[in-house]
Amino acid sequence: MRFCAKCVMPDTKPDLHFDEEGVCDACRSQEAKNEKINWAKRKKEFLSIVDRHRKNSDYDCIVGVSGGKDSTFIVIRMLELGLNPLCICFEPTIPTSVGRKNLENLNGLGVDLIHIKRNPIIYKKLAKEAVQRVGDPEWQNHLGIFTVVPHFAIKFNIPLIVWGESPQIEYGGPAASKTRHVLDRQWLEEFGGLLGNRISDMIGVDGITKRDLSLYYYPRQEDIKRVGVTGLFLGYYFKWDLREILKTSSEYGFSTTVRPVETTYENFENLDCYSNHLHDYFKYLKYGFGRATDNACLDIRLGYISREEGVRLVHKYDGIPPKKAIREYLRYIGFTRGELQDIMDSFTNKKIFIRNDTGKFQKDIDGSLIRKEEYVVR
Ligand SMILES: [Zn+2]
Repeated sequence: MRFCAKCVMPDTKPDLHFDEEGVCDACRSQEAKNEKINWAKRKKEFLSIVDRHRKNSDYDCIVGVSGGKDSTFIVIRMLELGLNPLCICFEPTIPTSVGRKNLENLNGLGVDLIHIKRNPIIYKKLAKEAVQRVGDPEWQNHLGIFTVVPHFAIKFNIPLIVWGESPQIEYGGPAASKTRHVLDRQWLEEFGGLLGNRISDMIGVDGITKRDLSLYYYPRQEDIKRVGVTGLFLGYYFKWDLREILKTSSEYGFSTTVRPVETTYENFENLDCYSNHLHDYFKYLKYGFGRATDNACLDIRLGYISREEGVRLVHKYDGIPPKKAIREYLRYIGFTRGELQDIMDSFTNKKIFIRNDTGKFQKDIDGSLIRKEEYVVR
């Protein structure tokens, strides 16, 4: 396994490419953002799109929100531009109290907010099946966020959807994904993190019918066309700096937690849902890097920490099982601890983690798996 020469990302990350100097394309993308991209021109582009959509309907645009620092920031920006956004929140799997507080704060900035209390019976069936099929407790949530917002854009006749960062621009991904600043059905299917499991594959699971899943299907192309729905990534038009965004959102009442989030060292991301932390832990089991690596990479690329500091943070935080998130998840989903452990083991990468003579994964006393020497970042 190779690690990027500039950040600490391993080459086990799906779709991440390294150049001949051993630098990952997320780092190269950041260099382009610092040196090549004309942000003034992009801002102008965005403003002209916004002007075309202004007063198109009762709302100027629609924003999918969780109440996190990013969605708080988008709403602040839209209000500053004199726009009236309609906000849509797709209820997370296991909401936290700080997440609820932040969503209320976002609402209080002066926007209408629709909180989708999705059918909990269907949602849980999807959650149970997805984690066993693709090893992601958040599969149904990723899908729901990206499909519910365009559904409401159509229902309210609002053509412009504003999303936050483009995951591929910020975290790296196939070249084709980085020139795309529009989120549509094709983007969702190719780059939306659905891990090859389509919503139609879930029909029949525990009696689920197609009709039960209507919210999770991307809207029909004819409806998208009729309303003229376009979903734009704000991160394509404005330089995305997580700590600047945090600063702005905090000035407008966004709350962080006192302690760092389980699985990493920061206290301001993924605060709204416990299941998210387990999602990050599954990623660690599959690819050998967790949320601390993601955070360190962003902080290194943005110049907040050195690579050496990033390496230390990864050693310190990556790989510790998120105990509270697991407890909350078990209470929600209804698996026994042993059942969840079996699912986690089935997705754990045998190339990366050490096993004993009986084939079982070896663990430290805190429950952390042990990586083979060549898979430890240096
Ligand atoms: Zn890199």
